[in-house]
Amino acid sequence: MNYLSTRGDSTPRKFCDILLEGLAPDGGLYLPEHYPQIDRTTLDHWRHLYAQHGYATLAFEILSLYIDDIPAADLQRICEKTYTPEVFGTLEIVPLKKLGNGFYLEALSNGPTLAFKDMAMQLLGNLFEYELARRGEQLNILGATSGDTGSAAEYAMRGKHGIRVFMLSPHGRMSAFQQAQMFSLQDANIHNIAVEGVFDDCQDIVKAVSNDLAFKRQYKIGTVNSINWARLLAQVVYYFAGYFQATSHAPMLRAGASALPPEGAVPGLGRPGAGRNDEKVDFTVPSGNFGNVCAGHVARQMGLPINKLVVATNENDVLDEFFRTGVYRVRGSADTHETSSPSMDISKASNFERFVFDLLGRDGARTKALFHDALAKDGQFDLSGDPAFQQARQRFGFVSGKSTHGDRLATIRDVFQKHGVMIDTHTADGVKVAREHVQPSVPMIVLETALPIKFAATIREALGRDPDRPARFDGIEDLPRRVQVLPADADRVKALITQECE
Ligand SMILES: *Cc1c(COP(=O)(O)O)cnc(C)c1O
Repeated sequence: MNYLSTRGDSTPRKFCDILLEGLAPDGGLYLPEHYPQIDRTTLDHWRHLYAQHGYATLAFEILSLYIDDIPAADLQRICEKTYTPEVFGTLEIVPLKKLGNGFYLEALSNGPTLAFKDMAMQLLGNLFEYELARRGEQLNILGATSGDTGSAAEYAMRGKHGIRVFMLSPHGRMSAFQQAQMFSLQDANIHNIAVEGVFDDCQDIVKAVSNDLAFKRQYKIGTVNSINWARLLAQVVYYFAGYFQATSHAPMLRAGASALPPEGAVPGLGRPGAGRNDEKVDFTVPSGNFGNVCAGHVARQMGLPINKLVVATNENDVLDEFFRTGVYRVRGSADTHETSSPSMDISKASNFERFVFDLLGRDGARTKALFHDALAKDGQFDLSGDPAFQQARQRFGFVSGKSTHGDRLATIRDVFQKHGVMIDTHTADGVKVAREHVQPSVPMIVLETALPIKFAATIREALGRDPDRPARFDGIEDLPRRVQVLPADADRVKALITQECE
């Protein structure tokens, strides 16, 4: 499998060539030159593998289709080391929780930092360590975070050979729990830097350091942001695992029986076709940078029977606007709102270019004209008059919706009262929008992207009580902290990196 850029550069590159890269040299994003097609037999086989041998084996099967420059035995070992019940809490790794008839949450947030980013980042840590060792190289990961990404990266990279992490966060602005999660790490290769400024200052420093090409080369500066293809690929696996779980509950109908389900059978579980691979499901995905739902798009393009991909946004509705109107309009900082689902607070969706490339029939020149020229000139582009725009819904299955703070509170309350399940603010955005798109005959799977403990203040506002806290996080706020406070000055950050690399 070779990889190409969404902006037309088709120099053949292998998986490990792009593993440690960010953008392609022409400013585009990497995609595989085609999506491997999964037929019924393979889908049946994978259903069986997941049930009998677990998530790591399923991950290995899917990853193997995209990675042909790591020996199979090594890749299998990496998957097995990554997706363990010890790290992710259950044998299923991504179990479904039922919220009513044919309506499910897929639990992606039981990894080390309690957000779905662990699903990909834990794999990335092991892939990076493997590839760096193979090359005899080192990497200094520099990043900026306002919460989930930074902690997921640190927990994935802690103790890894050949890797140091320098993570900038705005001093005093993350939630108490998020600060405790990151700053309590005592690993020598993890460096927390609290910057006296806001998140934008942190991002500006990362840009300034990365733009110093001599420094970047000398100190092997890299990133782990959401445009990384390996992260996206890792996320494809749980769409398959969610599908198998939502469609495998009809043992008496399994053998192709055509009997009608008994009266009162649960739709989505006991009706004819359940457990057969022609049954479709819908997914709803709380979205920010479009990384998570883009993995759903890849799964669907491979042939996983997904009916709709529902994009749920918060008040930062760049993506909802596009899927409703065909206009993609990047927001300025004055138009980017701080919300109670902060991990979806984006001004533009950095993975969206991947989907538009596919939507335009993989036309790199047109994709470049939109994302490079039009966005630079007008801050937006408009596909409403283009026949391709209709395809977003008709051919690619995308629909969307939006959720606000009030919706979030109401949904958290409603789900807790009706089902006794406490959901976090991002997942609440997903449930709210999913309910608007659910169809009686199609199972709906909402991706749970974080646990409520990470966003305690809003849970208190909604429910008047504190969120449940997994036992392993008891007292985390009282642990000793490892963090340096620095002024918002790129030179001070460079000096720190230089000193650590001595
Ligand atoms: C990162 C994140 C999202 C958004 O995911 P994208 O891949 O950026 O669309 C949603 N919810 C939570 C909790 C996150 O951490």
